[in-house]
Amino acid sequence: MTTADHQNKDASPIEKQNGRGLEQIPGFIYTAEISAKLFSPKSCVGGFTKLTGYPVTSFLKNNFYNEVVIDRDDVERLHGFRYTSKSSATARNLSYRINSRGGKRLIVNEQVVAIETRGLVKLIAGVVTLSDRHGKSSSEGTIRKEMLRFREMEKLNRHLLEVNQLKDEFLANTSHELRTPLNSIIGFLTLITEGYYEGDEELRLFTRNALDSSYHLLNVINDLLDISKIESGRMQLQIEKVYVDEIMEEVYALFKVQADQKNLKLECVTLETPLFAAADVRKLKQVLINLVGNAIKFTDKGGIVVSVEITGQYLKYKVRDTGIGIPKEKQDKLFQKFIQVDGTATRKYGGSGLGLVISKHLVEMMGGEITMESNGAGLGTTVSFTIPKWTKEDI
Ligand code: ADP
Repeated sequence: MTTADHQNKDASPIEKQNGRGLEQIPGFIYTAEISAKLFSPKSCVGGFTKLTGYPVTSFLKNNFYNEVVIDRDDVERLHGFRYTSKSSATARNLSYRINSRGGKRLIVNEQVVAIETRGLVKLIAGVVTLSDRHGKSSSEGTIRKEMLRFREMEKLNRHLLEVNQLKDEFLANTSHELRTPLNSIIGFLTLITEGYYEGDEELRLFTRNALDSSYHLLNVINDLLDISKIESGRMQLQIEKVYVDEIMEEVYALFKVQADQKNLKLECVTLETPLFAAADVRKLKQVLINLVGNAIKFTDKGGIVVSVEITGQYLKYKVRDTGIGIPKEKQDKLFQKFIQVDGTATRKYGGSGLGLVISKHLVEMMGGEITMESNGAGLGTTVSFTIPKWTKEDI
């Protein structure tokens, strides 16, 4: 605003606004006349009471500042600052400390615009707002920024609480997963060493159980090590030409017995023409083992079909089952660490809740994508993932 603008307007243009919209600002706007070094407040709008705790009438008394401003130096500075203000387009700034009525110390920022008449400062308009920590003015922009920051913090806090809860659940589940096979190993080995078995058949059965549990324990530990390796960026891959049929046959051989034991049909389907993937052979197998293992674990009736087809530059694997399915609302979370549809300690199916996350990381590290589809609880599940095809350029 220029000097001319000010002169053309009423002495107290701020009053005209009636303080509308000012309630949101943690502060107030005043006008005051300056004559013979006397500061005479004329008007005060906005949240004066909200900021200071005092009624507006206190501000209109001349000695208000002497009473509330904490440092003597600041009172002096304030007077000097006001009397020496010159008309200008930009406001001048000053920060000082005040005591609110409730005894709370506040840092406020005052912006002053001076209005000169014939070379003499006659009127000043000041905006007094609560300062932020650095003593800068809490303008509406700053307030909005603070609000956004606050919301971000709230969001982060909620997220951290969720992660913390997941971590607790994970620790409970993982220690359960580690202890169960370990207890079983200790149990069967104790039976053997104490001689609690009758005949070779029973000895073999106990030994077999201890061995199975050892393998299971090894798998859980490997999952935990894998995820920590992946997350710290220490997982190295060796991409090479991989013959798809060979892997399929291995996967089939690995799961056939398990499927038979549950009376499930297991099918592995490839194309007529030989297919080659550009992949890390061990990691590709690991992904298939995770997915087929899950399919068998979560299916009690029907069967599992593992298939592979070509889509553009990729091979697309599908592991389809007729199992328990996944409720829609839980589907998008399952590729996150430690998430299981049933995460309670009393859940029916074992597992660490890391298989899908590891698979997702491995597939993506090999340049593909993984997705999961289920029409809902009881309606089966299909997990699909892509892997780049082996091309001549890969040689
Ligand atoms: P885990 O099987 O060790 O719990 P995963 O990461 O492999 O961990 O799977 C996470 C969760 O996703 C499982 O606990 C289960 O709730 C759900 N899930 C995975 N695969 C299937 C599937 N084929 N059918 C139904 N639910 C599945």
